[in-house]
Amino acid sequence: MILQKHYLQPLTVDEASTMAEKNKESFKFIAGGTDVIVNKNQGNENAACLIDLSKIEALKGIAQTGNFLRIGALEKLAVLAKNPLIEKQFSVLAEAALSVGSPLIRLSATIGGNVLCENRCLYYNQSEWWREAVGYCLKCDGDICIATQGKNACFSELVSDTAPALIALNAQLTYSTREGTHTLPLESIYTGDGVTPRNLEKNAIVQALLIPTDKTYRTFFAKLRERESLEFTSLTCCMSADENDQLRIVLSGVDPKPVVVTGNLNDDPEILITKAVKSARTVDNDMYTRKYRREMIRVYISRGYKKLKNAL
Ligand SMILES: Cc1cc2nc3c(=O)[nH]c(=O)nc-3n(C[C@H](O)[C@H](O)[C@H](O)COP(=O)(O)OP(=O)(O)OC[C@H]3O[C@@H](n4cnc5c(N)ncnc54)[C@H](O)[C@@H]3O)c2cc1C
Ligand code: SF4
Repeated sequence: MILQKHYLQPLTVDEASTMAEKNKESFKFIAGGTDVIVNKNQGNENAACLIDLSKIEALKGIAQTGNFLRIGALEKLAVLAKNPLIEKQFSVLAEAALSVGSPLIRLSATIGGNVLCENRCLYYNQSEWWREAVGYCLKCDGDICIATQGKNACFSELVSDTAPALIALNAQLTYSTREGTHTLPLESIYTGDGVTPRNLEKNAIVQALLIPTDKTYRTFFAKLRERESLEFTSLTCCMSADENDQLRIVLSGVDPKPVVVTGNLNDDPEILITKAVKSARTVDNDMYTRKYRREMIRVYISRGYKKLKNAL
């Protein structure tokens, strides 16, 4: 039975878990609400109960913990982008956070919500009226992908800008369920399926992102979008090279999950670029064409190579 529509505000993780259990038929966690509320208004999110995590102190704070920098899931993008340690040591994350939405959105948007924000597609992020008129697609109970005309897969894009930055920095994600606390490499939570883009249990509460501090990186960040503000990504490219020139290239905006390519800065760039372009299952569901975005993968990775080599 779906309970009456309501809004709950727990003060602890335990309380939030209990509320989730009691409303398990239809609930949604919410942090800054900048993704959930827009989806709700467009009829793409219909949970009867919203559980607002924003008052849980245990999910806040940025601090060195052992060999990790721990960033609480509720940390606001505007705040973490100005954190001196992040700016100095993990500038790719600060750049990514500063590229999200607009200054006003970054004051509400959290890092936990950003790595979990819903995948997007030109044919899905529309009003209920628009989607009904065009015909529903696989991601909203239809039986066809409007972008590809296929019946088997949805290619809605991962649009998080901070997820590729965090993955380039080898970040882990800590979350809790009623069964306990778990820590995973961030990249492992993304499924590659546009309809169900993440494999975390519905009652999982993200506690923090952990960035290892035992390595130093040179990094690169670039984002393709139609204008410099209030625009989701059409391609985000984050790259890192450690002291041994081990390279991580991570893309969002061009596949339902992050595209991750690893190698060495001394490898032939053409090989890694070709691997990245082949891995990205880009389709025509964005304001920019598939062809253009695939070409821009080449451009950005080449620029990243140059920057990281010159930073030696
Ligand atoms: C105009 C506009 C422009 C935008 N531009 C960008 C952009 O350029 N780049 C970008 O990446 N995003 C963009 N966004 C999307 C959104 O603002 C960000 O992704 C934001 O970081 C989401 O964080 P939030 O705290 O508001 O998430 P919410 O909306 O509160 O939640 C998002 C998701 O995360 C889940 N969630 C949140 N916190 C937790 C937690 N601790 N544990 C478990 N689940 C949790 C929620 O259940 C939901 O599924 C934009 C949004 C708007 C409206
Ligand atoms: S990629 Fe296809 S199935 Fe997925 S949201 Fe877009 S149109 Fe729908």
